[in-house]
Amino acid sequence: SDHQLVYPPRPDQMDWSTLYPAYVAPPEESQQLEAAPSTTEEAPSQEVSAPVKVRRLTQDVEVADIGCGFGGLLIALAPVMPQTLVLGLEIRVSVTQFVEDRIKVLRRQNEETKAYQNVSVLRANTMKFLPNFFKQGQLSKMFICFPDPHFKARKHKQRIVSTTLNSEYAYAVKPGGIVYTITDVPDLHGWMVQHFEAHPMFERVGLEEQEADPCVEIMRNATEEGKKVERNKGEKFVALFRRLEDPVF
Ligand code: SAM
Repeated sequence: SDHQLVYPPRPDQMDWSTLYPAYVAPPEESQQLEAAPSTTEEAPSQEVSAPVKVRRLTQDVEVADIGCGFGGLLIALAPVMPQTLVLGLEIRVSVTQFVEDRIKVLRRQNEETKAYQNVSVLRANTMKFLPNFFKQGQLSKMFICFPDPHFKARKHKQRIVSTTLNSEYAYAVKPGGIVYTITDVPDLHGWMVQHFEAHPMFERVGLEEQEADPCVEIMRNATEEGKKVERNKGEKFVALFRRLEDPVF
C-alpha cells in the first residue's frame, strides 16, 4: 500500500538514481550488492535472493529539508546552490507527491539549463529512518522549518527536535555543518535552542553570522509556512547550530 514506508537497510544500498537522473554515474561505477535494496515497515526482514545493482550518483546529497511540506524551500534553494544536491523529506504521501510533481514540471520547463535537477523529494519518516538514508557526516546543511509544535506536554516526545534525534542529526551532519531552525512558536523555539545547546556536538551560531548567511533569508521567506506567518503578521524565530568537530580521544 502507499502508506508503507520504504527505506534502504543502509545508506550505501539507497538507489538515488531515480531522484537525481542527471547525476547518475557511468555504469562501471555502479555497485553490485548482495542484499535487498529496500525494506518496508511491514516486512523489515524481507529476504531477496538476487543481487541488486545500485546505480551510484556522481555526488552525494548534501542538503536536507526535514519535513519539507510543499517544497518552497527546496525550489528556492535549487538555483542558489546549483552544484549541490538538495533533498526534501516529507512523511505525508499526498504532499510528497505534490512536491514531486512540482519538481517534475520545473525540470521540464528548464530542460535546456538543467535547472532543478539538483533538487528532489523523498517520502520518509525522519524520526525513524534518517540513518538509513545518510552516511555519517554526509550533510553540510540541514533545515528544520516550522516543525509541528505538538503543544501539549504529553506530545513533546513527538517533536522533531529532541536529545535522541539531535544525536542522529549530529551523525548525519558533518563537522562544521549547520542545522537551520525556524518557527513562529516561541515555546518551540526555546525548546529547540535548549536541546541543541545542551547537546555536546552542537553550538549555537552567533547572530551576526546567522544574519550574514543567505540561507536564513530564504528560510524566512520561501517556505509555505513562512509565507503564511508573514501574511498573518506573525513573528519568526530563527536559530542556527554548528556541528562541532568530533572529539579526539
Ligand atoms: N517545512 C515546511 C514549511 O515550512 O512550509 C512544512 C512545515 S509543516 C508545519 C511540518 C511538516 O513536517 C508537515 O508537512 C509534516 O507532514 C512534516 N512531518 C512531520 N513529521 C515528520 C516526520 N517524522 N518525517 C517527515 N516529515 C514530517
